[in-house]
Amino acid sequence: MVEGPPPVIGASHRPGTLANSHPPTTTKGKPSMQMPEIRAMARDLGIKAGRATKADLVRHIQRTEGNFDCYGSADQGVCDQTGCLWRGDCFREARRNHRGAA
Ligand code: SF4
Repeated sequence: MVEGPPPVIGASHRPGTLANSHPPTTTKGKPSMQMPEIRAMARDLGIKAGRATKADLVRHIQRTEGNFDCYGSADQGVCDQTGCLWRGDCFREARRNHRGAA
């Protein structure tokens, strides 16, 4: 039996569905998930994006996939889910929120 690379974890703490086809981001990775791509993911999951912000939409996707809606909560820049699809964006969102709360 030939084993392939390990699956990419979609969002938060369980492998996602559609997210498995997307490469993970890194904390330094420039390309973040853009809204058209996130909206398409949401649409495929039956979520109406409406005027939702990126953070709200990602959290909705996480919940719909059965994951914790932890996007933007890694405010210390730490999360053990290194394969998380949202990692880079999540850390940026968390930093933004943390600065805003100070
Ligand atoms: S990187 Fe962010 S969105 Fe991903 S599992 Fe960690 S806290 Fe959740």
